[in-house]
Amino acid sequence: MSDHILIVEDEEKIALLIRDYLEAEGFVTTILDRGDLVESYIAKTPVDLILLDVMLPGKDGLTLCRDIRKTSSLPVIMLTARVSEIDRLVGLELGSDDYICKPFSPREVVARVKAVLRRTSPPARETEIAIGPLALNEDRHTCTVDNKEVTLTPNEFGILRLLMAHPGKVFSRSELLDKVQGYHFEGYERTVDSHVKNLRKKLAARLPKVQLILSVYGIGYKLNDRAFDGTY
Ligand code: CA
Repeated sequence: MSDHILIVEDEEKIALLIRDYLEAEGFVTTILDRGDLVESYIAKTPVDLILLDVMLPGKDGLTLCRDIRKTSSLPVIMLTARVSEIDRLVGLELGSDDYICKPFSPREVVARVKAVLRRTSPPARETEIAIGPLALNEDRHTCTVDNKEVTLTPNEFGILRLLMAHPGKVFSRSELLDKVQGYHFEGYERTVDSHVKNLRKKLAARLPKVQLILSVYGIGYKLNDRAFDGTY
C-alpha cells in the first residue's frame, strides 16, 4: 500500500509542487493549508509522514510538532524558510525527524521523505509467542494450536498474551485488568474470571489433556510453564 504523506503548507505553489513530485513517486498526498486543521485530521485519517511548514495560519508548525509528539510517533519533516532557523529548531527539541530549508528542490524533499520512512518504519518481522503447539501472533491477533486457528475475543487474546509472555508468573485479577490492552470497563475483577473460563474452554477443545491456565488460590492466574511437559 502507498504511504500517505500529509503536506501542511499555506503557500499553494510550494504545496502543489511537493504534491506533484511525491505523487509521481507513487505516494498518496493530502494538502492542508492551516496548522489548526492538522490534529483533527490525523486523529481520523491514517498518515505515514507529515511535511510541516513552520509559518502557518491557525497554529504554527513548531507548536504543532510539539503537540503531535505528545500523542504520536508519526514522522515529521519540518519545512523552514531560513537556514538560520534550523539551529533554533534543533535546539527546541521538537521531536521532528528531519528539517528541510527553503528554497529546496522537490527532488530533495522526495529523497528526505523516503529516507525518513525507511528509518522510522518498523521492521517487517512478525511477533509471535509460542509455547508447545500454542502460538500467538501479535500482528495478526491470531491464536493457533498446531497451526489451526482458535478464535479469541480481544480480551481473551490480551489475557493469554500477558500470561504467555511471562510463563509461571502469577498475575492478580486487577493486574490482568490493568495490563490487558483494550480493557475498557470498570475494573470489575470477576469479569476476568469469566474471560479465563471462556479461554480455558476454547483451549481445552483443542488441547484436552493440557491444563494451560492455572488458578492461584486467593491471588489470580498463571500460565502453566510445564503444561506441555510429557504430553508433547
Ligand atoms: Ca508558510
